[in-house]
Amino acid sequence: SNGAAKAGKSRNIIEKMEEQDKNCVVFYGSQTGTAEDYASRIAKEGHSRFGLNTMVADLEDYDFDNLDKFPDDKLAVFVLATYGEGEPTDNAVEFYEFIGSEDISFSEGASADDQPLANLKYVAFGLGNNTYEHYNSMVRNVDKYLAKLGATRLGAAGEGDDGAGTMEEDFLAWKEPMWADVTEKLGLEEREAVYEPVFEINEKPDMDADADEVYLGEPNKNHLEGSQKGPFNANNPFIAPIAESHELFNTKERNCLHMEISIAGSNLTYTTGDHIAIWPTNAGKEVDRFLNVLGLGPKRHTVIAVKGLDPTAKVPFPSPTTYDAAVRYHMEICAPVSRQFVSTIAQFAPSEEVKAEMVKLGSEKEYFHEKVTDRHLNLAQLLEILSNGESWSKIPFSLMIEGLLKIQPRYYSISSSSLVQKDKISITAVVESSQKAGSPHILKGVTTNYLLALKQKQHGDPDPDPHGLNYAIVGPRNKYDGIHVPVHVRHSNFKLPSDHSKPVIMVGPGTGVAPFRAFVQERAAQAKNGADVGKTVLFFGCRKRSEDFMYEKEWQQYKEALGDKFEMHTAFSRDGPKKVYVQHQIEENAEEVNKLLEQKAYFYVCGDAANMAREVNILLGKIISKHRNVSEQKGEEIVKAMRASNQYQEDVWS
Ligand code: FAD
Ligand code: NAP
Repeated sequence: SNGAAKAGKSRNIIEKMEEQDKNCVVFYGSQTGTAEDYASRIAKEGHSRFGLNTMVADLEDYDFDNLDKFPDDKLAVFVLATYGEGEPTDNAVEFYEFIGSEDISFSEGASADDQPLANLKYVAFGLGNNTYEHYNSMVRNVDKYLAKLGATRLGAAGEGDDGAGTMEEDFLAWKEPMWADVTEKLGLEEREAVYEPVFEINEKPDMDADADEVYLGEPNKNHLEGSQKGPFNANNPFIAPIAESHELFNTKERNCLHMEISIAGSNLTYTTGDHIAIWPTNAGKEVDRFLNVLGLGPKRHTVIAVKGLDPTAKVPFPSPTTYDAAVRYHMEICAPVSRQFVSTIAQFAPSEEVKAEMVKLGSEKEYFHEKVTDRHLNLAQLLEILSNGESWSKIPFSLMIEGLLKIQPRYYSISSSSLVQKDKISITAVVESSQKAGSPHILKGVTTNYLLALKQKQHGDPDPDPHGLNYAIVGPRNKYDGIHVPVHVRHSNFKLPSDHSKPVIMVGPGTGVAPFRAFVQERAAQAKNGADVGKTVLFFGCRKRSEDFMYEKEWQQYKEALGDKFEMHTAFSRDGPKKVYVQHQIEENAEEVNKLLEQKAYFYVCGDAANMAREVNILLGKIISKHRNVSEQKGEEIVKAMRASNQYQEDVWS
């Protein structure tokens, strides 16, 4: 997955900066695109407000053993997301291993004791989630390592918290004092910011959108030529056939999809407990809204060639393409709107009145939350409401490419066992659909509604699209047979014990049960093959037995295979007069849970990170304290130690 190396480009950041006359590099370690987005915003602002010659750099594109030669009149910015259980993002793994290495040594032999980074000036911002144990550990550790190597941080290190939902505001609050420190220490002066586009968009009205060389959603050249080639990964998804799909819920109110995605012949592999990444397409309804609000509706199928005006600017999609395809397949147009971006586009408002409202939204945090975030509006929905029908055609398309995230894959816990079906990946996905008070729109999750549309198409449903979402199902060129979806696999550390005779305890309410279907399926198959499988205890919860008890029949089959080795405890929260959650069931079975843990049972939690996983963690400490007759503090310490030794594993999301 090494872009620069593949293209034969230099991995020497110092050379690159010199070549391009840059004095500030913004490195990012990004998993879901937010850190990358913040990095490009910092780079843009550094240039437009302070005249820094900035560039953005993907950490995986460079080597770092010459960082000791980083000139002392230049600035490095690190924007680092922490992923999962305190891990670096995929693109930051090598950098992190290098910079934190015990016996680090630089190209010309300098070691840690020589303060090799004495010339390096930097600032840093971290993206984390306080519902996880290792909150923002990437930025904290990198900052510590850099300081140890003698580098100088010019301002406070910032931390954004996705768990509290304040990421954007944390970033904005960090940014201003950071710029104040940087400008003071580097002797820079603020200037009147003017918008300078990063990309040049060349319209080719004479070119046919159907021409072979025009990208209409194909992620790269091989796909364009209709012969996808591996290896398949985050830069090269596999267009996978959906072998089978069905609804898991018995209610009109919500949908939950079971899908079987075929990876046969792709060379993709997975092991039980891994994640699959699914690349979505935007709903036609939102693509139309976005293009129309910008006045691009009539030109949507015009061919455009997009290139960076500065050689360090990466175009986030292949070109030539069309406005329609760029927006539909590559831009995250439905995501929450950033307050800073609203300020930035105010200058392009259709009238002074609208501009004044944009400025107010951009500068007043509470007002913005009430009018935009809390109503779950996306950018085009907001612009539509603000301008009341007037077109925003003054906004340069380049600014949209710069300001919006590139579309991100969503991850799903694989709900099948690789032992049972190595060529087919199951997913279990609940379809996101909700309406906020005061919002004229129903929020439809991008990926899950796309998957729902695929399922409906596959089944030839009579009323497939009641909300008029109008997804492009097979893409404009339909190069692949049947219903398919672009995917890649992400390996995880969420794993069954290698010794199958060890007991396991699994806690997975709602869609949190996904990986446990895989675990139980695997153990049932092992038992059928005559293996001596250990105790397999599952705590599952849902709203109503008759509505959202997913895989109800399957659990019975697994029970037949596993006998009394399989125990399932269910909690139906909305069937009785009182809420019953998995925690209640765990408490009722506390003695057994403790006993199994003493026999070194593995303990797994999957699903909602914000409340459930945290509450289960606390409860387990209490159970251990009570049943082992130790203090509550000691109980907590035992749980911590279980986590550290991987006896306690989580696969959670918020
Ligand atoms: P999105 O469009 O991404 O929206 C998601 C949420 O973002 C919305 O509900 C809303 O809260 C917010 N949002 C979106 N747009 C706006 C807006 N304009 N304004 C304000 N808020 C907004 N899910 C499963 O169903 N099953 C699984 O097994 C599973 N496993 C996972 C494993 C991992 C490791 C991770 C990280 C996540 C997992 N998820 C799973 C969640 C999944 O990845 C997706 O997040 C989920 O399906 C929603 O995706 P979506 O594209 O449909 O919704
Ligand atoms: P779901 O159907 O909404 O919930 C599954 C079961 O969990 C329900 O019985 C629910 O009960 C129960 N539950 C709610 N809060 C709980 C808690 N604190 N501890 C234990 N059980 C609890 O789940 P889903 O549809 O699969 O979830 C969809 C998405 O929402 C997932 O991404 C999940 O992470 C997220 N989620 C978030 C929260 C949150 O508060 N942030 C909560 C649940 C799910 P009731 O609904 O009847 O209370």
